[in-house]
Amino acid sequence: MNILFTNFCNQSCPYCFAKEEPALEKKLHPNYIKLKELSVIIDFLKQSKETRVGILGGEPTLHPEFKKAMAMVIQAGLGVTIFTNGLMDRDNSTFLKGIQARKCNVLLNLNSPESYTKKQWSIINRTAGLLRKRMRLGFNIYKLDNDLDFLVDFIQKYNLEKIIRLGMAVPIFGGNNKYIELADYPKVSEKIVNFIEKHRLTGISFTFDCGFTLCSFTDEQLGKLIRLRTTLISSCPPPIDVGPDLKLWHCFATSRMWNKKLTDFKDLQAVIKFYQTKFKAFRQVGATNGCLRCEYLRLDYCSGGCLGHTLKAFKLEDRLENFV
Ligand code: SF4
Ligand code: SF4
Repeated sequence: MNILFTNFCNQSCPYCFAKEEPALEKKLHPNYIKLKELSVIIDFLKQSKETRVGILGGEPTLHPEFKKAMAMVIQAGLGVTIFTNGLMDRDNSTFLKGIQARKCNVLLNLNSPESYTKKQWSIINRTAGLLRKRMRLGFNIYKLDNDLDFLVDFIQKYNLEKIIRLGMAVPIFGGNNKYIELADYPKVSEKIVNFIEKHRLTGISFTFDCGFTLCSFTDEQLGKLIRLRTTLISSCPPPIDVGPDLKLWHCFATSRMWNKKLTDFKDLQAVIKFYQTKFKAFRQVGATNGCLRCEYLRLDYCSGGCLGHTLKAFKLEDRLENFV
């Protein structure tokens, strides 16, 4: 499960998955999680016997009581992965560096250098320079001409953890973020395999975020990935996010559908079951024309792509009121 510490951000990434849920897009009702609500979530996670949690925003380090909120989560014995855009002050970077590595991973969602102002780029570099091995990179591919080589240079420059998490920008149902069309997935797959092969001697390993599809890779590309010790997992888990007001949703791509409150459920397993049931029919259909007859979907080797694509294919955006 992921907790949104804030619903506001100091950046505006074109592919932003959080745009529709937090008040990022329209800058309405900026909100952050109060410590009292955070304590309710922590109790819920403990009741659910969870051991890890993701901390998101917006930009989570903008929470006015960021350190206190982090301390609460860590003292509860939960391992944390914090997702940041890196635009944090020196004080917060130093604070994160001081947390034991086994208790907190910091994932920097980095964009191409040219998308930042000079000042922003210098702050991100400062953050990376302070956190070093305590930080790993994530990159969301949202256009076909994204250059990826700078990620390797950035890791080497700051001696960051040698892992890159690659994400595919996916459509938010009812939203207007930038994303990769399904028809273009094979082009992205080719680019990724070439990129991984090119940098095979760096010792950097690669992981895939949710939403990738098996059939966008050729058998030869999948073979190369195996040789490069990279595992493609085509997944669409229910990540389950909880917002500052304890509102729940399945994931950002589907954040406008079937919102519930954390307090409606007895534990996380009940939440997951609820969303699995709600999305079951869409999952069985999958995002591409071939999914319905695909053995890999039935075998659960492939998730059938992101539900954001499936919902778009059904042109259900005008009927959002049916999914409250
Ligand atoms: S619908 Fe599935 S693949 Fe798409 S963003 Fe949500 S969890 Fe990821
Ligand atoms: S389930 Fe759908 S997306 Fe996945 S491999 Fe089969 S046809 Fe492709």
